[in-house]
Amino acid sequence: MFSSIKKMLNDDIQKLSDFARENKCITVIFVTRNQIAADIRTVLKCYYGCPSFGTNKMCPPYTISPERFFPILKKYKYGLLVETSASDINQAVVRIEKEAIKMGYLFAFGMRGGACPLCPSCTLPNELCCKPVEARPSMEALGIDVFKTVKNAGINKNKLASLNEDFTFFGLILID
Ligand code: SF4
Repeated sequence: MFSSIKKMLNDDIQKLSDFARENKCITVIFVTRNQIAADIRTVLKCYYGCPSFGTNKMCPPYTISPERFFPILKKYKYGLLVETSASDINQAVVRIEKEAIKMGYLFAFGMRGGACPLCPSCTLPNELCCKPVEARPSMEALGIDVFKTVKNAGINKNKLASLNEDFTFFGLILID
């Protein structure tokens, strides 16, 4: 029984990873929840010093807080960490999330690094997001330490430095 569940998971990981690569992801790494680094201090960086703070609804103060997100994160067992260009990351995360849902992972949920870039200017504070299906929250805003998560996934620091120069972004699709 256990081995058949494991085989199913392995098959699904392979399918989702292939799908991610078809959607221009240059790095695709399956991680367990323990490898996803949750650290409430990331929000300090949002509130103090980030030019995206308050400019879009996928960043603080509009997103849910880490205090609300951390108990949600504990419900997930796995994540698919992906990396692609700044222009492709949002679409890749949303497509992979949808594919995982189609495969039966109904609570699959994608997040991206950085602020939401989908509109030339975000809606006013008292209006709702105009693209709720496509917009996904910033991982940092929810308290995910992206650098540590990437390191935990086995991507080395030297590579990270060059990634920043190339303006690639990471995304994470949570799977239960
Ligand atoms: S999709 Fe548009 S309205 Fe929604 S958060 Fe992003 S920029 Fe704002």
